[in-house]
Amino acid sequence: VTDWQGKNVTVAGLGVSGIPAARVLHGLGARVTVVNDGDDERARAQAAELEAEGITVRLGDGATLPEGTELIVTAPGWRPDKPLFAAAEAAGVPVWGDVELAWQLRGHGGRTPAPWLAVTGTNGKTTTVRMLASILEAAGLRTAAVGNIGVSLLDAVLGDEEYDVLAVELSSYQLHWAPSVRAHSAVVLNLAPDHLDWHGSMEAYAADKGRIYEGNTVACVYNTADKATEDLVREADVEEGCRAIGFTLGTPGPSQVGVVDDLLVDRAFVANRHQQAQELAQVSDVQPPAPHNIANALAAAALARAFGVEPAAVREGLRTFRPDAHRIEYVEEVAGVSYIDDSKATNTHAAEASLAAYDPIVWIAGGLAKGATFDELVQKSAKRLRGAVLIGADRALIREALARHAPEVPVVDLDRTDTGAMAAAVQEAARLAQPGDTVLLAPACASMDMFVNYNKRGEAFADAVRALAAGHA
Ligand code: ADP
Repeated sequence: VTDWQGKNVTVAGLGVSGIPAARVLHGLGARVTVVNDGDDERARAQAAELEAEGITVRLGDGATLPEGTELIVTAPGWRPDKPLFAAAEAAGVPVWGDVELAWQLRGHGGRTPAPWLAVTGTNGKTTTVRMLASILEAAGLRTAAVGNIGVSLLDAVLGDEEYDVLAVELSSYQLHWAPSVRAHSAVVLNLAPDHLDWHGSMEAYAADKGRIYEGNTVACVYNTADKATEDLVREADVEEGCRAIGFTLGTPGPSQVGVVDDLLVDRAFVANRHQQAQELAQVSDVQPPAPHNIANALAAAALARAFGVEPAAVREGLRTFRPDAHRIEYVEEVAGVSYIDDSKATNTHAAEASLAAYDPIVWIAGGLAKGATFDELVQKSAKRLRGAVLIGADRALIREALARHAPEVPVVDLDRTDTGAMAAAVQEAARLAQPGDTVLLAPACASMDMFVNYNKRGEAFADAVRALAAGHA
């Protein structure tokens, strides 16, 4: 689409992506109608604002396709089985997500489109994208971490700032609605069941993640420890000359990046035929130095190397990178016990990664399980558990898994879902812990039964730890 003048576009969903999309399209001259399921006070206030700008808003009916719609731009969270999309399909109306819209608009107004280095996966996306942006910056490139985080993709594509390359985080929802995005290089970090209610099945979820490799020009980066990611590369239709590059926590083979002794090593993008391997960084340059995080660093390094970044910049970018809050964040040591906040571990796959990084652990867990089962997680972590403290709505599921697979581990079931339960959980954990242990908040569950979001949950944990330290001092 180059001429938006008078084009009838329906934006599905008032929200963080819908409102800016509606404004951008309106600014391009399109006739925009926003449809929204909800009709509450907040939606009415937002609608009034948009209406005043000349955008039509229809509240309380997100199912009916407005007359004359030529294109739908949907919020990524809208499920594909919604009636609106069935109506669109019947009428031959294309559906784009916010990412597709940004992709289609890049180059608008004579801007030079920046290539995308794209990251998806069940866990580690934000960390990897931020590591990648840090590396690209260290290389002197004009870049930003965009997508689910930081700068919005639309702003990056249409704003005044010029970029040489973008580090783009893409969720499975966004990929589902982004049929023509073509990255320079991309990675699927890992694949574990998540959001299956939305996608309909594991196959559909994997297929949406795999879209990220379609049309890649230089490298499809995959996880050698997760065969499903390699399968997705094999199935993808890529440009001629595009290479499959694996990352591994072990010694890298040819066309891989990996770890040798205490070094991150590149055997994929070596300078010349005679060179076997290229040192990139020390393992200790990566913070925190947990195995899954080394994997994230390798994936980021592989994408940067695919873009031509020199080894020294990879090292500098990793050294200066600091993780976001509530992602395996060190809080404090009290009475010889370390307290770590991984509130962002909202599913079992994420919790498994942080539980693998410490030993012995007093584990604080629980919340909303989102249909997950905990047997595998508990089986894999049982040896390292000194004890467990459970809170939140679905804690019984974790308690039962512990009883099945780790009957010797002491468990405190707090039987609480109020906000104050976190302080009580920290006190119970302190009682179970011995000097040298780690108390780890890795809930393996969503937070919404007790907190507004995982940030608030992590803050409650950190506050409780600081109170504990103050009492101890
Ligand atoms: P995302 O953006 O995919 O949600 P984050 O980088 O925010 O990922 O990390 C979310 C959580 O997932 C972290 O708190 C950590 O527990 C876990 N995690 C991070 N990287 C990985 C990885 N490579 N494999 C498994 N779990 C990970």
